[in-house]
Amino acid sequence: MIAIAISGAPGAGKGTQSELLVDKYDFAYISTGAALRKEMADGTEIGKKIKSIMDNGELVSDDIVGEIIVNVVRKAEEAGKKGILFDGFPRTIKQAEMLDELLNKEGIDFDGMIGLEVGEDILMARILNRAKTSGRSDDNEESVRHRLDAYHEKTAPIFDYYKKDNRYFGVNGEGEVININKDICAIIDTFKI
Ligand code: AMP
Repeated sequence: MIAIAISGAPGAGKGTQSELLVDKYDFAYISTGAALRKEMADGTEIGKKIKSIMDNGELVSDDIVGEIIVNVVRKAEEAGKKGILFDGFPRTIKQAEMLDELLNKEGIDFDGMIGLEVGEDILMARILNRAKTSGRSDDNEESVRHRLDAYHEKTAPIFDYYKKDNRYFGVNGEGEVININKDICAIIDTFKI
């Protein structure tokens, strides 16, 4: 089983690209953002705890996110999937280490992180446009500023973590969706599925 992650700042296109990849490959898929939004929508204990953090555009604790991920890896293996795609995870060095440890225990290698690289003016324009229809309580200018700060401070350092052993693959995320997708698929096709 291959294991890959898709990363990028808010509005970089992680969700859009993930949908196309899941259609094309037989991968299990987890968006930690979507999973956390579901906890809030269902009004669970976790959901209540994280609402103000998420609305502010800050990161949820590594422990909470870790719990979600453990279950997903287990289910993907049980379902005999060819791969697993993490969207928006890992987002901190701690999470990257957690993921390596978890996958190693299962005898799975982490093949790489695909980073969608997009300039900030484009990101902000995309999100404010998405806000018209997304219904997301964190799609507003102030929250997006915090999400960008969290991205630069906590998430960008993991690119160096993966670059050290050639597991970071940067992709220009500013063009047409379909062309970006082709670039991503070309990378995935170098992994042994
Ligand atoms: P996303 O849908 O990936 O843009 O994530 C939306 C929000 O969910 C983020 O701003 C964080 O508050 C939270 N979140 C999603 N994934 C993670 C993660 N891996 N670690 C911590 N917080 C996360």
